[in-house]
Order: sequence, then C-alpha cells, then structure tokens
Amino acid sequence: MTSEQRGVTVWFTGLSGAGKTTIRMAVEQQLRHRGLKVEVLDGDIVRQYLTKGLGFSKEDRDENIRRIGFVAHLLTRNGVVVLVSAISPYEQARAEVRQTIGDFVEVFVNAPLSVCEQRDVKGLYKKARAGEIKHFTGIDDPYEVPTNPDVECHTDQETLEESVATVLRHLEAAGYVPTASVPNPSLP
Ligand code: ADP
Repeated sequence: MTSEQRGVTVWFTGLSGAGKTTIRMAVEQQLRHRGLKVEVLDGDIVRQYLTKGLGFSKEDRDENIRRIGFVAHLLTRNGVVVLVSAISPYEQARAEVRQTIGDFVEVFVNAPLSVCEQRDVKGLYKKARAGEIKHFTGIDDPYEVPTNPDVECHTDQETLEESVATVLRHLEAAGYVPTASVPNPSLP
C-alpha cells in the first residue's frame, strides 16, 4: 500500500508560538497511525544540522527555506508525506518552494502576535522585547502573511483537534492521504 502513496509537502508557516509544531506533531501521529510514510523537517532542528551557521538576515532566512525545500522535494518525489514547520516569513521564498515541489500544501498557522507573545513558549518574545535577541520575527523582523494559503488554522479561536481535522480533511480531499476508515478515538 505504501508503494502507491503520493508524496506531498505540508508546509506549516506562522509566527513563533503560533502552534506549528503542536499541530504538526498531532498530524504526524494521525498519518503514522494510518500507515503512511512521514518525515519531519522542523525549523529548530534543521538549524542545528542542515542549515547550521545560517543567521536571521533575509538572505539567510531565504537560504534556510531553500535548503529545507530541497530536502522536502527529494522526499516528496519519493512518495513521502513531508511535514515542514518553519516560520518562513517571506512570501517569495514560500512561493519558490511551492513551485519547485509542486505537490505542496501551505498551512498558515495563524495566531495574533499578542497571543503568541502571551504564550511565549520558549521565552523568546521576552528576550526580543528586552533587545537581547535581534531580528525576531513579529518584533523587529517582518512576517509576510500568506495571501492564499491552502489551509488556515486560527489557533487562538479553535482547538488543536479542530486545526488537525482541517489539515487532514484538506489532505484527504486533495487525494494525498486516504480517508480514515474509522475515527481513532485515542488521537487528538
Ligand atoms: P510554533 O511551533 O509555531 O513556534 P508551538 O507549537 O511550539 O509553536 O507552540 C504553540 C503553543 O500554543 C503551545 O504551547 C500550544 O499548546 C499552544 N496552543 C494553544 N492552543 C493551540 C491550538 N489551538 N493549536 C496549537 N497550539 C495551541
């Protein structure tokens, strides 16, 4: 069955703390439960290996996205569902990876800056406000809001379960993943 699996890159973009990783992990769990081949490229982890040494200038951020996109493309064309979570603040860089990969689903994980800042999952907003971190997206670096995402999750207004269901429904409707035969009550 896996030999017939269609590859796709599901690209979660949004501010730090918007919920990209949280939604991605729950989607990953659901897809693995359905027996699909899944790989993850998480922005924070990628920066420790594949894109180690890159900083947060526009050039470096774009290079970060290009490299993630390169790996995602290789996996996608080999039938893997690739889940990418990365802030990816620039529209042009996102458009380029979309064009290169083809089978690409952009998920805009949308929460207002004030909510992300209040969550401050990693304590980074506090540091950015104090000037200890420069070029922090949303504070002193831009985030270009996706103009036409395939899926949008308002994590300040909906539950994690609702966001995950929206992503899965889109993947099913687009024919990338088979429809779940029976709902799995143990998953989010
Ligand atoms: P990111 O990967 O975008 O930086 P994280 O997933 O690490 O963000 O953090 C998002 C935080 O928001 C987590 O603490 C998560 O529990 C919380 N959260 C609250 N509501 C939601 C929701 N509906 N969807 C996703 N995350 C949510």
